[in-house]
Amino acid sequence: MKHISRQESPDSFEKWKARNRSAHWGEFGNEKNHTVEIKREVKEKLLSQQNNLCGYCEVAVQLDDSHIEHLKDRNNYPREMFDYDNFIASCQYTDSCGHYKGTGYFSGIVSPFDNNCEQRFTYTGNGKIIPVDENDSDALNTIEVLGLNCKRLKDRRVSIIKTLELADNDFVSQYLSNCEDWLGGFYTVVKYMQK
Ligand SMILES: [Zn+2]
Repeated sequence: MKHISRQESPDSFEKWKARNRSAHWGEFGNEKNHTVEIKREVKEKLLSQQNNLCGYCEVAVQLDDSHIEHLKDRNNYPREMFDYDNFIASCQYTDSCGHYKGTGYFSGIVSPFDNNCEQRFTYTGNGKIIPVDENDSDALNTIEVLGLNCKRLKDRRVSIIKTLELADNDFVSQYLSNCEDWLGGFYTVVKYMQK
């Protein structure tokens, strides 16, 4: 799980929020109230602060194949529905990440905003993500809730691991800086392959 440094919420979004304090989520990004542009701007900012990687599984994503996901879901945390710091750009797959998690947020969840999130997980040669500390139950539950060991993700990681197994360290470092273009994402998998 690659760490995300939070940035400031876009001005246009904060201004719209101030004028629409009782808005529902469904009204945001609607043609009728001209918020399509504002929602796009929010998503663009999220994608740029995430280096165009899904905030959970690190697959490379763009505007049209991602969505604004609420770390704390809208059902249980309605007050944080329009809180920019609660937003993560997530992939659209249903076997992992935002759509899979749904209302599965729990207080100990490891989030990409946590400073030590990259140190909490590692990988196995067969593409599985595991907690660094096998007794780290929050990390284990996070993997579970986000579906991070679904077959699709494990297969993608295995193919990257196989690609990089024979590469020397200079190449791996280059892959790391361009992983979104060259390998379809998976930053921390490439990092795992650095010797
Ligand atoms: Zn994802």
